[in-house]
Amino acid sequence: MRKMDNSGAAFTPMETSQHSDGHKTKQNLIVFFTAGAFILALIAAIYSIKAVNDKPNVIDPQAGIIPNMDSQKKVLRDYYVTSNQYQYELFQLTNTWTEYFSRLTPNPNGRDVVIFDIDDTLLSNLRNILDTDFGHIPKLFDDWVLNATAPAINQTRTLLKYLKGRGFNVIAITGRPYTQEDATRVNFVRWDIDPSIFSAMIFRSAAEPSSTMTATTYKSNRRMKLTTEDNWNIVGCCGDQISDCAGGFAGYIMKLPNYCYFLP
Ligand SMILES: [Mg+2]
Repeated sequence: MRKMDNSGAAFTPMETSQHSDGHKTKQNLIVFFTAGAFILALIAAIYSIKAVNDKPNVIDPQAGIIPNMDSQKKVLRDYYVTSNQYQYELFQLTNTWTEYFSRLTPNPNGRDVVIFDIDDTLLSNLRNILDTDFGHIPKLFDDWVLNATAPAINQTRTLLKYLKGRGFNVIAITGRPYTQEDATRVNFVRWDIDPSIFSAMIFRSAAEPSSTMTATTYKSNRRMKLTTEDNWNIVGCCGDQISDCAGGFAGYIMKLPNYCYFLP
């Protein structure tokens, strides 16, 4: 049976029920969206508070100015040990240098010579450096040298032998004191470098101590003497420090990477 509403329009009980359900659904949706918006606002508020609290409340005045030592040690370990970057650079450099000398013909007078440094040029101290966590402890370093176990650096050993095979002479000038000569020779033999490959092996004398004479002065003086007094023609100089070849009488300079220490 159809009923009449106030306007006189007819409607059924079923229509009344639908109207009521639609109203409830609308209300439910409003409640739902209001609650959802409230929860989202609450989450955003919690996260913004957390973000503020996560920010360091102390600003490091040295950040970006002075490198942090632990960070630098990690960079060095990655460079020397974890990645193959150091070995890769040695290969790249020595390939370039070998290519350079492959285009040269040694003077038939037999006086052309290439100068080599020893520490971290022909022999690697990396194991000692890592053992001391990048520190230099003179007593431990002297023990290391006298142990005569420093591994040869493959790439420069190959270059050394290549140059000798081509007819260039090779001379070692090292910052090691003369008291370490015997151990150094034993070390070379241990790593397949016959000391007789060198036309001379020059160590700091008692009159040239590292405490009072820079490597630059000591080594350049020695190269000058080799040139002007001993009649050598220096065509190349290889070392891991700038001071190995600075100061003249060096010829073609071959600088190896060394990010661990600096010798003036
Ligand atoms: Mg060196």
